Amino acid sequence: MSAASATACAPGKVNLYFAVGDVQPNGYHPVASLYAAVSLYEEVTVAVSDEPGFSVSVEIPEESVLAQMERAGDFDRSSIPLDARNLAVKAVQAVLDAQGIELGEKGLSIHIVKNVPVAGGMAGGSADAAAALKATNRCVVEAGWASKALTDDELRDLGAELGADVPFCLMGGLAIGYGTGTELTPLDVPADTQPLHLTMILSTQGLSTPAVFAELDAGRAEGRYPAPGELEVPQALIYALIDPSPSRDLEATTSHIRNDLQAPAVTLQPALADVLNQQQGAGAHAFVSGSGPTLAVITGDARTNKCAGKNQNPHSYTMALTLDASKA
Ligand code: ATP
Repeated sequence: MSAASATACAPGKVNLYFAVGDVQPNGYHPVASLYAAVSLYEEVTVAVSDEPGFSVSVEIPEESVLAQMERAGDFDRSSIPLDARNLAVKAVQAVLDAQGIELGEKGLSIHIVKNVPVAGGMAGGSADAAAALKATNRCVVEAGWASKALTDDELRDLGAELGADVPFCLMGGLAIGYGTGTELTPLDVPADTQPLHLTMILSTQGLSTPAVFAELDAGRAEGRYPAPGELEVPQALIYALIDPSPSRDLEATTSHIRNDLQAPAVTLQPALADVLNQQQGAGAHAFVSGSGPTLAVITGDARTNKCAGKNQNPHSYTMALTLDASKA
């Protein structure tokens, strides 16, 4: 009999709205977030192995932008930890703990197929954690190590312990997030809603999410950034996104996009300002994705992509994506 194994996918994301409140005594920031899954996915396979403990491997698909960056020396896969620091490993361990499973003589191999930029503000590690939670949940039942799988709610609770974006990556689609981002309300997108196209502009330098939040806090204390506003996702943005009319009013969407982490991300990586200005000059709406440094540009359709092919710099990388409204 072949060893038990299970594979699951989870999407990367952009935040179309990310208002951040003042840091709380516990170190967390309350947020009002509009999460949108993008058409870029992480895939994780968890399989029972005869080698005790965990073994982690990472595959970067040949045709992916990450592989292109790696070939040009602009991405180093050693930035992805292969030990207990990897969020996928933490996710596997969380499911084992919740099920009361001890590995003993057996082990688990964790294979990650990576497409989402690392430290890019698109929740790549969180998507790995989400996919690993789902895959492990199935694998331990298939292996006969647990009599019944954890429920979606139980997985979501485990995910929230691992990181603020993990519950959304488990869910996918479009969702409003309050609290630290883990109190989610999914939004139903009518099937006939026009897909929203995005061009992601990648950076060859990552940004640490905690460092961007710390810069926001420091800058607010010094009056360099505005004080937090109301922590509420505007209804007008939600309506614009779920608008099923055939000619989508892009302006209705872009005029409400907000990211409180944009200014601190630009402070930490000043070159981002040039790219944002260049896009703005071309009439495009560009914004920092999450904690950056990836930039997202909303485009009318896949063909009227204002940035694709324009930049002659061999070390600049873009990805044409759509928002993926389907729930996982
Ligand atoms: P977010 O948007 O959720 O803030 P991010 O997309 O900016 O996160 P990640 O790609 O999740 O950032 O990685 C941030 C850091 O986490 C990496 O630099 C790496 O050291 C560590 N890390 C842990 N697990 C993973 C993983 N599975 N994939 C990539 N990085 C990971």
